[in-house]
Amino acid sequence: MNQENTAPANHRSGSVAVIGRPNVGKSTLVNALVGAKVSIVSNRPQTTRHRLLGIATFPHGQIALVDTPGLHRQQGKFSASAMSRVMNRTARGALEGVDAGVLVVEAGRWDDEDSTAYKVLHDTGVPVLLCVNKIDRLKNKGELLPFLAKATEGREFASVHLVSALKRNGLDVLVADLLKLLPEAPPMYGEDEITDRSERFLAGELLREQLMRLLGAELPYATTAEIERFAEDGEMLRIGAVIWVERESQKAIVIGKGGARLKEIGSKSRLQMERLFGRKVFLETWVRVREGWSGDESALKAFGYGDG
Ligand code: GDP
Ligand code: MG
Repeated sequence: MNQENTAPANHRSGSVAVIGRPNVGKSTLVNALVGAKVSIVSNRPQTTRHRLLGIATFPHGQIALVDTPGLHRQQGKFSASAMSRVMNRTARGALEGVDAGVLVVEAGRWDDEDSTAYKVLHDTGVPVLLCVNKIDRLKNKGELLPFLAKATEGREFASVHLVSALKRNGLDVLVADLLKLLPEAPPMYGEDEITDRSERFLAGELLREQLMRLLGAELPYATTAEIERFAEDGEMLRIGAVIWVERESQKAIVIGKGGARLKEIGSKSRLQMERLFGRKVFLETWVRVREGWSGDESALKAFGYGDG
């Protein structure tokens, strides 16, 4: 589609990397700006494992938001893993060619990982906007000024925003300031496009979101989802998915007593898929074991990790 003729004068468009340590709300922010759940969210760190574009279209501009796995220190049990290396690589790779960066941090908390994320972003030479998220959670507003002083001291930000991605507060001004950092250009994507990823990929992610949410403690990091079948059947989508685990004992946990947990995972995933795709979905799931997949770079590659 030729967008050039329809773009208003002063239209801006470009891409923006969303960077920050795990769990600060990067994906929630991307979804809020796009207006749909293109990127999965859970209260566990390392939910986002892939680079993904969320496309936010406004009357005077379009922002291609690059959501990334959180940059984290390579320490501890999980962080020393192959998955962790692949994710850090993915997050850094996402910075290539962007016009600006958004550093997302959590209101009231600034630690070494935030400093590292800032440095990675700053070193690319693009303007950086500071997004202080979860402002709704900050009980003691008196902490805000000292926090902002600490966050901004010795650092350069194009602007600073206090937002709640969850409650969608403060986002209009953030968008306006972000657009100012982008070049004058026609839109890069059609109005209806919300991501660069296929529905098939998104289906796998929505299933993985439920694994992150419904499985306790460590198990989410030993699981991944693979879509084996994705077919249109009239108005309906028929999706067949495999949940991969690392050990036989984990398989039993995912399935649950009498299959109850797998049933819940499946029905919640299906509802999310129907919501995103606007169609009825018939979802079948199987649980299979591939020993040690998360520590095995070739298995990670086979499951689509690290390819963007
Ligand atoms: P990411 O790892 O940086 O992508 O973080 P997510 O977007 O996955 O969010 C991590 C957790 O923080 C989830 O439980 C979100 O619901 C929660 N969260 C994100 N933004 C906000 C916010 O503005 N306020 C509150 N209270 N929680 C938020
Ligand atoms: Mg995320």
